[in-house]
Amino acid sequence: MKQNYKSLENNSFKTNRALFIAFVAAAIVTYVIWTMSQTTTDTYNDEEEFIKYADGQFEMSQSFQMTGVERTEYEYGEPISYAVDYASCDYDNVAAFRDIQIENMKTSYSESIDPEDDQQKALLLKTGVTSTEMDAVNLMIFERRTAEVEEDMTTVYKNMHTYQFSTKTGDQLVPEQIFKPDYKEHCSEYFYDYFSENYDKDQLSKAWKTYIKPNEDNFNEFIITDAGISFFFDEGTVLEKSEGIVYVGIAKALADDILRKKIIHRYIDPNKPMVALTYDDGPGLVSEDRILNCLDSYGAVATFFYQGTFISGREDKIARAKELGCELGNHTWSHPVLTSLNDAELNAQVVNTNEAIKAACGKYPTVFRPSYGESNDKVHAAFGLPVILWTVDTLDWESRDGKKIFDHVTSQGNLDGKIILMHSIHDATADATEKMIPWLKAQGYQLVTVSELIKYKTGADPVPGKVYRTFE
Ligand code: ZN
Repeated sequence: MKQNYKSLENNSFKTNRALFIAFVAAAIVTYVIWTMSQTTTDTYNDEEEFIKYADGQFEMSQSFQMTGVERTEYEYGEPISYAVDYASCDYDNVAAFRDIQIENMKTSYSESIDPEDDQQKALLLKTGVTSTEMDAVNLMIFERRTAEVEEDMTTVYKNMHTYQFSTKTGDQLVPEQIFKPDYKEHCSEYFYDYFSENYDKDQLSKAWKTYIKPNEDNFNEFIITDAGISFFFDEGTVLEKSEGIVYVGIAKALADDILRKKIIHRYIDPNKPMVALTYDDGPGLVSEDRILNCLDSYGAVATFFYQGTFISGREDKIARAKELGCELGNHTWSHPVLTSLNDAELNAQVVNTNEAIKAACGKYPTVFRPSYGESNDKVHAAFGLPVILWTVDTLDWESRDGKKIFDHVTSQGNLDGKIILMHSIHDATADATEKMIPWLKAQGYQLVTVSELIKYKTGADPVPGKVYRTFE
C-alpha cells in the first residue's frame, strides 16, 4: 500500500501559530482506500453478480461510515446499475435531503451517457453522517461512477460531496454560519505551506496553487469534526490524479482562526422568502409556552407584543422569548384606545410597559404595536419606536379555531414579506402555530422578526415613528 501522506507534526508554520495541523488517523485510512478503489475489477452479468461487485467496492471504503451502515440498496439495470450504501441517520431532514441528492446524482449520471453506449455502467454512492459538538451534522456522499473499459469495471469519475446541517434548526448550513469571514485567506495560507512543505514536485499537480486560492471555487468541501475541521481536495486538483482525493484535517487550535466559536444557527438569506409571525396581548399562560416550545424546536423566531398588565409573574416567558432570539414589542400597558389619552396617560402606557419588559429580560422592547391598531402622530411620538401593524389578520381571537387560523394563513398565496397577526393568549393560536411553523418551513419561508423583515426588505433599519404593514 502506498503511503504518501505526511504528518505535519514536526513542522511549524510561517505564521508562527502554534503547530496543530495534522492528518487524523481516519484520514490515513480514507486516503489509502480511495486510491485502492481506482483499481479495476471484472464486469458483472446479472443482478447477483452486480451485488457482489458493489459490495466488494463498498467494502474497500468501509471506514468512511462512522455511524454504521443502515442498509444498502441495489438497482440492477442495463446499461446502468445503481448501489447506494446508507449510513445510519438520526435526523429526518438530513435523510430527506440525502435522498434528493442521491436521485439527482442518478439522473445526472444517466443523462451524461450516450444512448448508443451499451457498455456496463455503475453508480456507487456511499453516504456517511456524523454529528459534532458544534451542534452540526455532516452529510457526506462519496459518488463514484464506474464503467466497463476493456472488459473491466473502472472508476471513471469520483467526487466527494459534503453538506452541513444545524441540529437546532434542521436547516442546511452555509459557510458564513460556520466560518469566520476571512477563513479562505487563512486556509489558503495554511495549505500553501502545508502542501509545499510536504509534497514533492511530482506529487503536486501543475496548477495546484489554483486550488488553494481564496476564491469561491475552493475550500467548499469539508466536514466539521470534534477535533477541528477537515477539507477534501478532489483528485487531480492540488495533487496529481494518481494521489486520489486528499483529506486534510486541521486540528482545533489552528482551526480557531477559521471556525466560529459557535455556529450561527439562524441565517437569513435575503434572496429567499421570509415571513414575520407576531403575537399580541401576552404573555399568555399555557398557550404562550406552547408557542415558545414550537419556535424553539424549529429554530424559528417570532415577535411578541406584550401587554404590560400581564407581565407580572410571567417574566420567565419574556426572558425565554429573548433567549430564543425573538423580538420583543410594547403593546401598551392596559390596551386602551391610545388616541383618546392625554399626555400623562399616554406616557404611562409607554414607560410602564417598557420598564416591565426590561425588568423581565434585561432588554427594552424595540418595536411598538398600538392596541386595536389605532394610533396617530402624537401616539407614535410618545412611544418613539417603529410602529408595526400587519398584513394578514388571522382573526384568531374571534374564531378560536386552530384549523381556521391555519387555513386562513396558508390560503393567502405568496406570504413573502408579510406580517401575520395572532394573539398568544389562545390555545387555538398555539394549535395553529404548531401546524403553521413546519408548513411555512416546508414551503421555503424563513421565519424572521419584524425588524429583520424590515431590514431585509427595505435595506434599512426600522425607523421610530414609521408605520410598517407589509413588503411586497
Ligand atoms: Zn391587542
